[in-house]
Amino acid sequence: MWPLPFTLGHEITGWVEALGDGVSGVAPGDAAAVYCAWGCGACENCRRGSENYCSSAGMRGPGLGLEGAMASHVIVPNARYLVPTGNLDPHELESLLETELETHHHEAAEPAHAMQKVADALPGFGIVAAVLGIVDTMASIEGADTATIGHKVAAALVGTFLGILVAYGFVGPIAAAMEQRANEDSKPFELVKMAFVASVRGYAPPVAIEFARKLLFAGIRPSFADLEAHLKGKTRVESAIG
Ligand SMILES: [Zn+2]
Repeated sequence: MWPLPFTLGHEITGWVEALGDGVSGVAPGDAAAVYCAWGCGACENCRRGSENYCSSAGMRGPGLGLEGAMASHVIVPNARYLVPTGNLDPHELESLLETELETHHHEAAEPAHAMQKVADALPGFGIVAAVLGIVDTMASIEGADTATIGHKVAAALVGTFLGILVAYGFVGPIAAAMEQRANEDSKPFELVKMAFVASVRGYAPPVAIEFARKLLFAGIRPSFADLEAHLKGKTRVESAIG
């Protein structure tokens, strides 16, 4: 499709070494990725910014018919093909993402915490009900027969019973389930953070993905072999989906 020979390499990041005449907007030392579909810059598609659909030059660029990046230096014909990548420090990135995730966790867990507070308060209501019941019993204890007193004490204890039953039997478990759900919903963000930070630290993509895999709980964690097969497009990893 392209006349040979040419140097391969069409996924390029690096630092600007030197500028040609009249180039502005970038300076030597700037970190940049190179957009690798180089059009003519003049046809309708190019003027719309879709140089990958250039109707006169066709699909070409460094490593795509032109000299690519498997070399010490690459000549980029126009500064518009440079995408600044900034000088991202992995530690800064990690703490930034950490803070963001913490905020997310905190927000997601708030309803569960409110529910837990209700659960914690319910036995207190039960005790108040019991005390009121006993006060009522004491008020009518004089001259009452044992059946009446027994009935009133039983009524007082039902208050305590209900408070504890509803707290530990219903509201508490609901709060725990809500918290669990919120934690599970946060997991994908942690995986992305782990893979992203590992990648920025310079680990190869398969290693970065492996770091993320280890964060998954055992019940849904795909095996190393499964994941590798999945990444190579051979099988689907059912357990990691949904
Ligand atoms: Zn064009």
